[in-house]
Amino acid sequence: MDPLTHLINTLSEQALSLLYIDNPLTINYLTGFLSNPHERVLALLITEQHTALIVPKMEENEAKENKVIDTVLGYKDEESPWEKIQNHLSGLQLNHASIGIESDYLIMDRYNQLKQLFPDATFESITSRIQNLKVTKTEGELEQMREAGRFADIALKVGFNALKTGIAEEEVVALIEYEMKKLGIKEMSFDTMVLFGDHAASPHGTPGKRTLQPNELVLFDLGVVYNGYTSDVSRTVAYGEVSSKIKDLYEVVLQAQKTAQAAVKPEMTTGSIDSIARDIISQAGYGDYFIHRLGHGLGQSVHEYPDIAPGTRLSIKKGMCFSIEPGIYIEGLAGIRIEDCVVVTDSGSEPFTETTKELIVVPVK
Ligand code: MN
Repeated sequence: MDPLTHLINTLSEQALSLLYIDNPLTINYLTGFLSNPHERVLALLITEQHTALIVPKMEENEAKENKVIDTVLGYKDEESPWEKIQNHLSGLQLNHASIGIESDYLIMDRYNQLKQLFPDATFESITSRIQNLKVTKTEGELEQMREAGRFADIALKVGFNALKTGIAEEEVVALIEYEMKKLGIKEMSFDTMVLFGDHAASPHGTPGKRTLQPNELVLFDLGVVYNGYTSDVSRTVAYGEVSSKIKDLYEVVLQAQKTAQAAVKPEMTTGSIDSIARDIISQAGYGDYFIHRLGHGLGQSVHEYPDIAPGTRLSIKKGMCFSIEPGIYIEGLAGIRIEDCVVVTDSGSEPFTETTKELIVVPVK
């Protein structure tokens, strides 16, 4: 059953008369209509009988080609989308209705507009309902994610090849993204991260003017968006020879990553996957230096439900996709992270990226 039909079928269970959805990714997920409205309102209204899309006038014709949406209502910049919504729904008895909203996305200004339109209505979150639909990917979605992963592997290779003494982090970023653009990739999943040596000790550091010196590590974390679906991969490589201390740290992260990834199978809990990696790092004495969750879901967004984090108890199912990305970060020394994203299969998991995880040594140039 397609997600929209599934969602409509559950309206009566929660006694909801109307759903108001204005997250463009959710609208794309439910209807196939993809648009970035920037600050303008793009809203999908769903009742048991009807779907309507409120859309900026510029996108009206494109939206009308969509076969899933019953009614498309365009508004010009000088018109109010809220009036369009009010007029469209005026025939329905919504005064004391329950209206479903995505509480993790709806901004306060729009919530207040809805409350003005329906002063006596109650608003209920459908966030977890939508998350539960999105969390298991269809074969069609997985095809896009595999392709996004393939591009991430290419991007890593471009990055490895770009390394030379004296190059700045931001130059390597530029070379990677330039190659991706030439291959037709419109956007990266997030700002490409390339960090040298001790600069990588901050897990979310920003690439800058730091230049590469021989015999230090380089941390890459990147991904692309392909047909609306994301990839995400991290590799840490050596530029020249690194110390045996650093090689030992790398080995710990590698074992944590590979062991956790190999253990993934249906019915495990998210928290238990996290513990497998975390225990290996803790037993090696570096537990305090693994300062983030093991992973996160991904799909249309590069960070989405579920979290693979300590204490989480979601039972994983076939078709769920998430990252496995342990790391060790030691101030002043190094940051090491190794990440693959996987899809859960009948008996295990399959990664979206294939770049080797054994320590790559890039010769000094
Ligand atoms: Mn990630």
